[in-house]
Amino acid sequence: MNAEQLAIPGVRQLTPYLPGKPIGELERELGISNIVKLASNENPLGPSPLALEATRGALNGVHLYPDGGGFELKAALSAKLGVAGEQITLGNGSNDVLELVARAFLSPESAAVYSEHAFAVYPIVTQAIGAQARVAAAHDGSRGPRYGHDLDKIAALIDAQVRVVFIANPNNPTGTYLGRDELHAFLKRVPETALVVIDEAYTEYVGAEDFPDALGWLAEFPNLIVTRTFSKAYGLAGLRVGYAVSSTEVADLLNRVRQPFNVNSLALAAATAALNDGEHLASTVRLNNQGLIQLSAAFAERGLDWIPSVGNFITVDVGRPAAPVYQALLREGVIVRPIANYGLPHHLRVTVGTAEENRVFLAALDRVLGA
Ligand SMILES: *Cc1c(COP(=O)(O)O)cnc(C)c1O
Repeated sequence: MNAEQLAIPGVRQLTPYLPGKPIGELERELGISNIVKLASNENPLGPSPLALEATRGALNGVHLYPDGGGFELKAALSAKLGVAGEQITLGNGSNDVLELVARAFLSPESAAVYSEHAFAVYPIVTQAIGAQARVAAAHDGSRGPRYGHDLDKIAALIDAQVRVVFIANPNNPTGTYLGRDELHAFLKRVPETALVVIDEAYTEYVGAEDFPDALGWLAEFPNLIVTRTFSKAYGLAGLRVGYAVSSTEVADLLNRVRQPFNVNSLALAAATAALNDGEHLASTVRLNNQGLIQLSAAFAERGLDWIPSVGNFITVDVGRPAAPVYQALLREGVIVRPIANYGLPHHLRVTVGTAEENRVFLAALDRVLGA
């Protein structure tokens, strides 16, 4: 049997998603402890105490299936975001929601469009369906932020075959973002035969004056889907919970392909409680802003080029192939993310940690680059 030949062509061309190296794995490999992981854009402050308490409270009920409709979390989101519960689709992380979009709207006869250097899950969900992937070249720096999404190039790839456009705002791993006016103008240009997913996984971190909240555009654009997550600023990456907000019609279609119990009961409880912890969220954002300043100042001091970021990570050009630098940092007990798979072989993506974690990373980087 040749399983490879039995797989659909899109799956044969896929390379598996490369997650950040888990701390436990590096501990086993090197026999060391005190590892600093700045590789997966996790919250260095951990989860909110309110979320932890709610999770503990939900433990006694894990013999029961979760509420497949996610009533309480949807009610809390609905109140917070000013949208109807029927507009929300819950996911096992927002990656799950991205996959629901692909399953509901893509086919081998249709196409998806996204940018070069865009989030790695877009090609995965597109190719897994066997749909055509159209990749728009990123900005070269002449008309917009270098490495950022070029909306003109994306628009040029949209025709009647295109069903889904994936836009990450801000984008991971570049940390670049699209401003309100340009993104709104782009949405006006997209035909109603294409759905536009605006992936706002890092929205809570962004303080830029011209950064849009795409939820406000849902009434104007029935083809708009906004996705968000509890994995980043809310510090619940391990529990897996995210959501989409869309028109009720689109949400109904997404919910048809959703596994009935895709979000577990601990995650539902934790996310609902996390929404009430504004203080934890504010501390998270404050720490991140300080860390972005700390890291970019340190890169400037060292003469390293970095991509200005509004997320909880920053991507730096190490001025040489980044893979050996990544490996050497691992031996120093620091896990960051090489992003050659994103077409950036000289860059490393570093999650903003606590001030101390950032210092540990910078000291290790100095040893590695100086050696
Ligand atoms: C981290 C990330 C997500 C969130 O993934 P989850 O499945 O919610 O953990 C979504 N989009 C982008 C661009 C991300 O970087």
